[in-house]
Amino acid sequence: MTDLTTTLIHHPYVPPTGFAAPQPGVFKASTVIFPNVAAMRGFEWKDKSAYTYGLHGTPTTYTLEERLCTLEGGLQCLLLPSGLAAIACVALSLLKAGDEVLIPDNAYGPSRALAEGELKAWGITHQFYDPMQPQDLAARISAKTRMVWLEAAGSVTLEFPDLCELVRVCQARGVLTALDNTWGAGLAFAAFDLNPGRSPALAVDISIHALTKYPSGGGDVLMGSVITRNPALHTKLKLTHMRLGFGVGANDVEAVLRALPSLMLRYQAHDQAARALACWCQGRSEFAQVLHPALTESPGHTHWRSLCRSEAGGAAGLFSVIFPARYGQDQIDAFCDALNLFKLGYSWGGPMSLVVPYDLASMRSAWPAYLEPGTLVRFSVGLEAVADLQADLEQALQKLVLTT
Ligand SMILES: *Cc1c(COP(=O)(O)O)cnc(C)c1O
Repeated sequence: MTDLTTTLIHHPYVPPTGFAAPQPGVFKASTVIFPNVAAMRGFEWKDKSAYTYGLHGTPTTYTLEERLCTLEGGLQCLLLPSGLAAIACVALSLLKAGDEVLIPDNAYGPSRALAEGELKAWGITHQFYDPMQPQDLAARISAKTRMVWLEAAGSVTLEFPDLCELVRVCQARGVLTALDNTWGAGLAFAAFDLNPGRSPALAVDISIHALTKYPSGGGDVLMGSVITRNPALHTKLKLTHMRLGFGVGANDVEAVLRALPSLMLRYQAHDQAARALACWCQGRSEFAQVLHPALTESPGHTHWRSLCRSEAGGAAGLFSVIFPARYGQDQIDAFCDALNLFKLGYSWGGPMSLVVPYDLASMRSAWPAYLEPGTLVRFSVGLEAVADLQADLEQALQKLVLTT
């Protein structure tokens, strides 16, 4: 080769093998080079035995997938560009016109919106069930029911369902279960081993995560995963994943790979801080209710206690409060605005504490009897010092009381 441009593109240098470092190398590719035509025609990508195209996997995506399988106790994993894309991929892969999907009434909002928008338009019906009443779920299952979504805990109202019983209800009727396990992060409980040591073993069919939250840990990456333990189910999901082009960027995968080793430590720290602040809030007169599954008074606490580790690491860093009706929305908005360390923003799992006032009545079909009437505010506790966060809540509450 004579032309410098050509030489720079087809450069002969190959670095020595055997390089080792704490972090795995990052491979970025749309195009993957084949050694010959036979390989190009024959390479199989579905079982990860080779590489064919960036969308079908690289050493970087395979590495994260395998680590996430280990974390979750799963066997197969798909990566997607967001947690919501993971939810959508499951729905689009497994549901067809005429099917019905059942969704908990406390589900992640955009998951409801997907059912009410695209799924409905495509002839896939849905019903919302009360996650705290397994008999309500059982009553809604019909011959049309193809899949049931599960969430534990609800990510805004933090009630903890009897997950084992909900899964048993579905299994008895031969209905697929898909868990949005973002809150548990694969740490609070084992989605594929819900009743350890007992028989018959109990597991969900599919576990999805918004890696955007704790696995990324930075508030700077959007990614999702779909984990299974069934090769046929995985292949069905993987084909949809491929046909819909749900690729992820190698730099984002690298960010999650880098954050994964500290996931347990961070999750424990978020948990510990959130429990401390939720307890403190419980002692304040401004709140009608404090929602955190580790609080004995919180809805579903006994289910949380029987499924999750009781020590730090058995709950995420989320808790919500309900302000009684004596505080108007303006006052509650002003309370949120008065917070300095808790920033106004969606999502969670990063180092910075966040706060969101929710209009709960507009988010679910019915106001559950286990929630006090009032206005809900959710806190996502970051990694700041608990004393500083408590002082921040206290000064904002002081301003709230002054306006009453
Ligand atoms: C954030 C979140 C999602 C969606 O994740 P994105 O990456 O933001 O799309 C899904 N489920 C739950 C419970 C979440 O908190």
